[in-house]
Amino acid sequence: MSIAQTRALLLTPQPDEMLAAVEHHLRQEHETHLETGKDGSRFVDKDGFCVTFQTEEKGLQISLRAPHEGMLVLLRDQVVQHVHELSPEAASDLRWEGFDCALRDYPSNFRIGTLIARSRPVTGLLRLQLQVDDIPALGDGLHLKVMLPSQPSRAPAWPRLGANGGLQWPKGKDALHVRYLTIRATDPKAGLVWLDVVDHGDGLMSTWAATAKVGSTIGLMGPTGTPVIPQVERVFLAADQTAMPVVARMIETLPPQVRGTVVAECDSAEEARSYFNSDKLEIVALDRASFRSAILEQATEICRVEKPQYAFFAGELLNARELRAFFRGDLALGNRHHSSIGYWREHE
Ligand SMILES: Cc1cc2nc3c(=O)[nH]c(=O)nc-3n(C[C@H](O)[C@H](O)[C@H](O)COP(=O)(O)OP(=O)(O)OC[C@H]3O[C@@H](n4cnc5c(N)ncnc54)[C@H](O)[C@@H]3O)c2cc1C
Repeated sequence: MSIAQTRALLLTPQPDEMLAAVEHHLRQEHETHLETGKDGSRFVDKDGFCVTFQTEEKGLQISLRAPHEGMLVLLRDQVVQHVHELSPEAASDLRWEGFDCALRDYPSNFRIGTLIARSRPVTGLLRLQLQVDDIPALGDGLHLKVMLPSQPSRAPAWPRLGANGGLQWPKGKDALHVRYLTIRATDPKAGLVWLDVVDHGDGLMSTWAATAKVGSTIGLMGPTGTPVIPQVERVFLAADQTAMPVVARMIETLPPQVRGTVVAECDSAEEARSYFNSDKLEIVALDRASFRSAILEQATEICRVEKPQYAFFAGELLNARELRAFFRGDLALGNRHHSSIGYWREHE
C-alpha cells in the first residue's frame, strides 16, 4: 500500500484554544482521545490513519496520513467537517498541501459502477457484480460509500470537491442517498467489484440491489477501512447479514494457525459454510428469525468455553452495544482486541 499524506494550516489567532476545542469535540462526540508526540504535538494514530495537530504562531497545523490516496480523500473530508462544526470560516479557508481542487472534476476516489449481473450467494443476500474503471487506483480497503439519487426518477448529480478539500454534496432535489457497503471482492484486471447487499425489502439501496436492471449505474466512493486483527491464536467473529462480507474479508487475512468461531445470520449451516469457505474456523449459523434475540446468548456460550483473544461483531446497533459490553466487560478484552460496530439501525 502506498501511504498518502498532506497538511494544512488552520488560521486562527488563538491556536491553543482551537486545539483545546478540537480535543474536547473529539473526546465528547467521537470517544477519540489524542496522544502527545515527542515534539509536543497531539495526535491520533489508528488502523493506518493518523491525524496530528501542532500549534504554531499563526494557527494550528493539521497533518494527515492515510494508507492510500483514496482513503486520504475521506479522511481530509472528515477533518474539514469537524473543523466546520467548530469554526465554519476557518474550515472554508483550509488549503491542503499538494491538493489543487481545480485539477479535479470528481474526487479522485469516486467511481461509477455499472451493474453487470446479480446472484444470491445465500438466502437473504443479493450479490451484485459491477463494472468499475481503474480499480487499482482505489487501492485495497473494506468499505465503499455507495450512492443513488434520493429521488430515483432524477438523473444523478455526483459529489464534487471544494477548494478546502471537503466534499460538496448535492442538495435539495438532487440530494443523494448514501450508505456504506463492503467490498466482498474485486478483480482489478477485469475491472469488476462484487458487493453483497441484504434484501431487507425497505430502503433505496436494498431496493436498487433487488430491482435495478443490468446496465444501471451507481456512485461509489472510497474505499475506507482496513482489516486489522492483532496477532492472536483464537478469534470470535459474529455478523448479521450486513457484516457477512466484512467477516469473509477478515477471514481471508487470518494467518493459517488462527482458530476460532464465526457466528453468522444464515438460514442453514451449509449456506454459512459455503459463504465463508474456511477450514480454520468453526462456522455456526443462526437463522434470520432468531439472530437478533439469540446472538448475545450464543456468543456468551461459545466464548465461555474457550475465551477468544480477539472478538468482533457488526450488525444492528442495539446488538452491537450488547456485544461491546460483553467483549469489554465479561471477556475483559482491551480496546485493540475487540470491535463491535452498528452497521444499521432498526427503524423506531
Ligand atoms: C461500514 C459498513 C459496512 C456495511 N456493509 C454492508 C454490506 O456489505 N452489505 C449490506 O447489505 N449492508 C451493509 N451495511 C449496512 C447498510 O449500510 C445499511 O443496512 C443501510 O441502512 C442500507 O440502506 P437502505 O437504503 O437499504 O435502507 P435505509 O434507507 O438506510 O433504511 C430503510 C429502512 O430499512 C431498515 N434497514 C436498513 N438496513 C436493514 C437491514 N440490514 N435489515 C433490516 N432492515 C434494515 C431501516 O431500519 C429503515 O427502517 C454496512 C454498514 C456500514 C456502516
